[in-house]
Amino acid sequence: MARDERGVTPQSEDFSAWYNELVFKAELVDRGPVRGTMVIRPYGYRIWELLQADMDRRIKETGHVNAYFPLLIPESYLRREAEHVEGFAPELAVVTHAGGKELEEPLVVRPTSETVIGEMMAKWISSHRDLPMLLNQWANVVRWEMRPRMFLRTTEFLWQEGHTAHADEADAMRETLIALDLYAKVAREIAAMPVVAGEKTASERFPGAVRTYTVEGMMRDGRALQSGTSHYLGTNFARAFSIQYTAESGEQQYCHTSSWGMSARMIGGVIMTHGDDKGLVLPPLLAPYQVVIVPIGRGDQAGQVLPPAVELAERLSRAGIRAHVDTRAQLSPGFKFNDWEMRGVPVRLELGPRDLADGAALMSTRLGEGKSPVSLDSAPAVLLAELTAFQDLLLRRATGFRDSQTATVNAWEEFAEAVTTGWALAFHCGQAQCESDIKAATSATARVIPAEGAPEQGVCVRCGLPSAYGKRLIFGRSY
Ligand SMILES: [Zn+2]
Repeated sequence: MARDERGVTPQSEDFSAWYNELVFKAELVDRGPVRGTMVIRPYGYRIWELLQADMDRRIKETGHVNAYFPLLIPESYLRREAEHVEGFAPELAVVTHAGGKELEEPLVVRPTSETVIGEMMAKWISSHRDLPMLLNQWANVVRWEMRPRMFLRTTEFLWQEGHTAHADEADAMRETLIALDLYAKVAREIAAMPVVAGEKTASERFPGAVRTYTVEGMMRDGRALQSGTSHYLGTNFARAFSIQYTAESGEQQYCHTSSWGMSARMIGGVIMTHGDDKGLVLPPLLAPYQVVIVPIGRGDQAGQVLPPAVELAERLSRAGIRAHVDTRAQLSPGFKFNDWEMRGVPVRLELGPRDLADGAALMSTRLGEGKSPVSLDSAPAVLLAELTAFQDLLLRRATGFRDSQTATVNAWEEFAEAVTTGWALAFHCGQAQCESDIKAATSATARVIPAEGAPEQGVCVRCGLPSAYGKRLIFGRSY
């Protein structure tokens, strides 16, 4: 298939080129002037706003409150938690000069906010009555990126970070899993991504965490995308920052803390979970425009069709549908169809003079074949149903794809084969060295110990030692 001015390299031909062209052609992003930075354009930002609004509602419904902490953190804060500083050191951006002189203490641009929030929690928590403290922050963070990729790996990115403090391990663990469940639901219900939730192996843990949990999605090239993580931090940060409380017994205790984050990387996940040769396929719940109306006709005819098209869009808006009329006069209907198809709009409506005379519009969906007439009178109800069906279809389709690309394997040859096109469900011994051997041989890593995996015993697919997890792990290549 030839690439033309409007289109992108087909996904089936070159997945990576498809993605890299599409994010620009669909006007989601542009490159920032500093290498690795990303400008999010209005069409892309609207997707983020829709995702963010839904997540924010869920975060508040689960008892968390929003706050905001500073972008600049004293370098010494990061040093207080040894694993944390070691984990982030290579990615830190450090401010050494400000106000026209060298600073006495360098400041890091936050790569994440455990340290500064820990410092404040220590100040705000004194009694068991102050617990749990359930905070969330919407923010940008900076992690210097040597191999940038739009949405997936950028030097600066947008996210939310939850930070909570609890009296004991049980309460902090409960919180860690509440956040994990929230991410799984956002991914499945809004982004139509059938993620697998579960724990990470020790070598994939967040620096400073006792346990790390993840939701992993499968992209259409078979690679995994870590789409949100939740960490039980034990008392590691509480000890580093003196987050203590007086228990009912009068004893001083360290808090147990958690942190969890989901970022605009999810937009990359949506693109790679649902997109096809023609471009984006957006889940209706995240689509800036759920329905685009293209008026058909030239000259006088165009003038006749435009007012009813605008009126139809207004009726759809009143029904809660994000509708848009493509009024670009200089472009042909054919160009407009291809354009909206590439930009992933779930439903398109054509409205021409003849359709109008029949009191109807012609509907086509982003994944459907052909066009069908919809009466203008019933259009809001018909389209609401169509959008719901489309959202469901995307989740079913992605689930089917994930399952078809996941192989349960016992032998090493099967494993090596499976991870070239998708995921391998396999036993592992739990040794970090064995995980690195697997990575060196296949580029695949342990993505997740699935929470829902059935209990099963076996021997490590690589080294033959007994399985350490009581169930199979998912291995795959990842972004
Ligand atoms: Zn092994």
